[in-house]
Amino acid sequence: MTRRVVLIGSPVAHSFSQAMQQAAFDALGLDVRYELWDRKVIELPEAIGSLREEEFLGANVTIPHKERVVPMLDRLTEDAHAVGAVNTITKEGTRLVGHNTDVPAFRVALERLVGKQKMPRAAAVFGAGGGARAVVHALITEGFVRVVVFNRHLHRAEALVRHFARSAAHMELKAMPWHESVIEAELAKAKVVINATSVGMMSDESPIAGELVPAGLLVLDLVYNPPVTRLLREAEAAGCTVMNGELMLLHQGAAAFQLWTGQPAPLALMQEKLEEARLAGVEGAAGG
Ligand code: NDP
Repeated sequence: MTRRVVLIGSPVAHSFSQAMQQAAFDALGLDVRYELWDRKVIELPEAIGSLREEEFLGANVTIPHKERVVPMLDRLTEDAHAVGAVNTITKEGTRLVGHNTDVPAFRVALERLVGKQKMPRAAAVFGAGGGARAVVHALITEGFVRVVVFNRHLHRAEALVRHFARSAAHMELKAMPWHESVIEAELAKAKVVINATSVGMMSDESPIAGELVPAGLLVLDLVYNPPVTRLLREAEAAGCTVMNGELMLLHQGAAAFQLWTGQPAPLALMQEKLEEARLAGVEGAAGG
């Protein structure tokens, strides 16, 4: 029987996960098909319920469902529980287990971005969804002492801060209103800036006005398609060190692959497939 793994989100058509995961299954000779399921909020319970059928090996969960899926699962790993969001589902018989491989993957990206410098201690995070929760959890456990969270809807950033109240009790974790003057003041205090909103994914927009970005920041955009978002373009022009979400995507995918199959992921091949998808995407965009 061909087993199935599905990426559940909306939108999913932009995703590079299928290219890298299908190539990885094929390379290991596994009879598994990776499918894209565009499912709206109202369709989510049925989609998650259908994963209990034997043919499904598991799933990835993406924007905007990573938090909403949590109560639909039977068990969460420690990381997924701490984050309050799930990006990978595995099976124990018909039971569904929620994992969060965004956390270790974000750590890999952050360490690469920081390079040989000392790990900074102050960050500004834009966004308060599932991706932002993984980022904030990783920053707390990495030893950051000051993290401010900006979100378009402030109440969601406040809920995120409340969620982490206990694990962040030793440090300063704050939700801040999305106003230019507040953002400007906070960027002057931060060393690391992370975009965990979807702004920049569907249109050439940035969550931060270019003139507010000071030189010398380390800027990580979780968005990977397009590979150079407006935020990264403007931050680099302002003298910042920048990175997109591709490395994080690779590592969250490799960790998920290992969870589904019990075998180490063919990382080099997955990276190659991501690069191919990126080049095809860029050419497609240029052509269209
Ligand atoms: P969610 O749907 O959970 O959260 C979306 C976030 O984007 C919210 O904070 C939302 O704010 C904000 N947002 C959406 N539209 C706007 C807008 N027009 N202006 C300001 N803010 C906006 O999604 P995820 O957290 O799962 O994903 C967020 C992004 O991060 C996506 O682009 C996703 O692809 C990327 N990502 C990449 C990963 C990687 O491996 N590279 C891993 C995880 C995420 P509000 O609450 O106010 O609606």
